Amino acid sequence: MAAVAIAPVSAQGEVPASAGEMWRSLEKLRVLGSVLYVAAHPDDENTALLAYLARGRHLRTAYLSLTRGDGGQNLIGPEQAPLLGVIRTHELLAARAIDGAEQFFTRAVDFGYSKSAEETFSVWGREEVLADVVRVLRTFKPDVVITRFPPRGDAGHGHHTASAILAAEAFAAAGDPARFPEQVKELGTWRPRRLFWNTWRPATDEQAPQVPRLLTLDVGVFDPVRGESFAELAARARSMHKSQGFGAAPRRGTLPNYLEQLGGEPASRDLLEGVDTSWGRVPGGRAVDAALVEAQKLFDLRNPAKVVPALLAARRAMAALPANHWVEVKRRELEQLLVAASGLWLEAVAEQRGVAPGDTLSVTATAVHRGTAPVVLRWVAVGVGEPVVRDQLLPANRPVATQVAVVVAATTPVSAPEWLRRPPTLGLYQVEPAAAIQGAPRPPLVARFLLAFESEEVEVVVPVVHRTVDPVRGERVRPVAVLPPVTAATENGVVIFPSGAPRPLQVRVTAMRAARGVLRVQLPPGWRSEPEALPFSLAGAGQEAVLQVTVTPPLAPSRGVARLEVEVDGQRSFWRSFEVDYDHLPPTTVLLPAQVTLVHEPVRIAGRRVGYVMGAGDEVPAVLRQLGYQVTLLEDADLESAGLEGFDAIVIGARAYNTRPRLAAAQPRLLAYVEGGGTLVVQYNTSRGLVTDALGPFPLTLGRDRVTVEDVPVTLLVPDHPVLTKPNPISRADFDGWVQERGLYFPASWDPRYDAPLAMQDPGEKALTGGLLVARYGQGTFIYTALAFFRQLPAGVPGALRLFANLLAGGRP
Ligand SMILES: [Zn+2]
Repeated sequence: MAAVAIAPVSAQGEVPASAGEMWRSLEKLRVLGSVLYVAAHPDDENTALLAYLARGRHLRTAYLSLTRGDGGQNLIGPEQAPLLGVIRTHELLAARAIDGAEQFFTRAVDFGYSKSAEETFSVWGREEVLADVVRVLRTFKPDVVITRFPPRGDAGHGHHTASAILAAEAFAAAGDPARFPEQVKELGTWRPRRLFWNTWRPATDEQAPQVPRLLTLDVGVFDPVRGESFAELAARARSMHKSQGFGAAPRRGTLPNYLEQLGGEPASRDLLEGVDTSWGRVPGGRAVDAALVEAQKLFDLRNPAKVVPALLAARRAMAALPANHWVEVKRRELEQLLVAASGLWLEAVAEQRGVAPGDTLSVTATAVHRGTAPVVLRWVAVGVGEPVVRDQLLPANRPVATQVAVVVAATTPVSAPEWLRRPPTLGLYQVEPAAAIQGAPRPPLVARFLLAFESEEVEVVVPVVHRTVDPVRGERVRPVAVLPPVTAATENGVVIFPSGAPRPLQVRVTAMRAARGVLRVQLPPGWRSEPEALPFSLAGAGQEAVLQVTVTPPLAPSRGVARLEVEVDGQRSFWRSFEVDYDHLPPTTVLLPAQVTLVHEPVRIAGRRVGYVMGAGDEVPAVLRQLGYQVTLLEDADLESAGLEGFDAIVIGARAYNTRPRLAAAQPRLLAYVEGGGTLVVQYNTSRGLVTDALGPFPLTLGRDRVTVEDVPVTLLVPDHPVLTKPNPISRADFDGWVQERGLYFPASWDPRYDAPLAMQDPGEKALTGGLLVARYGQGTFIYTALAFFRQLPAGVPGALRLFANLLAGGRP
């Protein structure tokens, strides 16, 4: 017997809730066509087109985002890199829950901005990512593939162009059994009918028909059943990309979209022209369609349960058909509709939000029958536990609860994101491709309900969840996670030893349940810790202890990664846990490997008192404190009224002039602070949306140039410049080991009173000299830097630490 999953939390597929949605689901059961949309990042997707196809045309629709967007910047919180990828994954799933499409990924890492598809492929590995795109095609089996970007070089970002090139290659390769033959046994081959590019809007709608092979779709159609147009719905979906600040306004009225055909059979009217999207495409499928037509006739808005007998007849007709991709897809949809039309609410709620492998979890599995068709609850099972037999006719609208104590097998893996269990290479996550492409994480624990409708039994699977009620936000529901009994974490991801002297390292251990054990810090070669093992005893869930070891670096400068090993009951684990909790996403505990980067690098500092004006959010202040600075975070009011003279330097965080409107009013005081002898260091801002034009004491205009290759050579144009000599002598070697990129939004033009002591360029491009600009102004120093210190400092890049210390010294002797 197959099972249907209904999933209120982060899983694909949906259970229609209202009678209107049930009617649309019933219509969709009769449509057997599918479209795959392909681009590179979370937010690239055209949610209006997805909504139109999925909700308006009832096509099975999916978005393949090659990456999880982990290389971007987070506008809503401190999470970066892998954690940001987790947030963006959930934002995509939240968007899909609204626009009705499904979600896929590949193993590709979003390694940051890339200027060309060639560079992108050299980092990712072209064959590997192509294999994943082919795998998605062979799994999802789309009739039509649509790219967001053109395969030519005008897509803006190398990842974008690469996504279109790979989509075209996969379009050709997926049907060829000689390509990626290791996939064929399980998935078969698949030949989509057509390939399109969802091209930009022509200058005028009148021009559209003149572009050859251009199809027009009006995605602004209004749906009275839903009470909104697909473009309006799409704005709600797009607004889920909150970590990128992509809240969108709904558009009303006609909204033409254009498809330029790139491959496959020519189409002159519609993207699915000539594709049979009825049950006629399945041998013997007419009987299913006849039952569904009957269900449509019986559908009653006031009592959807009237369609249950016809749905059961359609299900029987499906069961009589030979195994088929579409029968499997539609059976799952039908069973979701069957549960909804019956008026069933099924849930499994645990008392705790997490459980350790080997432990017991108490779960309440509840069925509420709010419809009129008779339903018998045969049994309930949770996890790998034995079913609890009920054999009970569900009463009308009275909850039937079953208590289950489930033992989670000791061998159950903890709930870490599949793609983050092992360290990635620069370009690829190290994860099984079959797991890598999946959009929604599988719920760690599920409950199964066996229900009997008339003579037919249907198994329904729901995730086991934990619920809390926040007095302001209301109910918060999260999937129960399988967590290690104890996790370990350091305050900072990097610990710096600027003088080479031993330092205490504090490790916080947190219990998921009562536990006694031992912590060991596994150090890189040459490093020592005292003591080597620290026992701990934690009395219950949520208990914490802070353990301290003294770490001594090797004599020579060194950088390495230490792992935090926790041993409980003879089991060793290396996990750190993070809480990710935003209103638009299900709250989630994310496990990442527990580790800390140790850096022994001699960094001299001059002047200790630093004021820091946070911009979009970065982790620079914590690093400065480790170097020995006393850092004060400055709020708007401090800048507008408090005395600034006490600071040896003031640092403006990344994108502060994009995100803090009141900085415009504070700018004269900041420049007066420089004139009076202070040092002001401004980190990068984007060129659009600046709150002031006067970023510095002299004219300075930002551009959009970047140096994206993090290891290109840097030329010291003025090697004896104070910021390159004091207090730390800087050489070309200080630009080794940088991460992700050199810098971004380099100034395009500046007053000659600025010194520009550095030059760098991406391969094949002209040299950029605006990455570091230094001007004496009055008695002080103003510095603008487009270099990506907000990435280098939290990564503990030695040369970047030394250079930043020089900037804070402002050329002081
Ligand atoms: Zn993008």
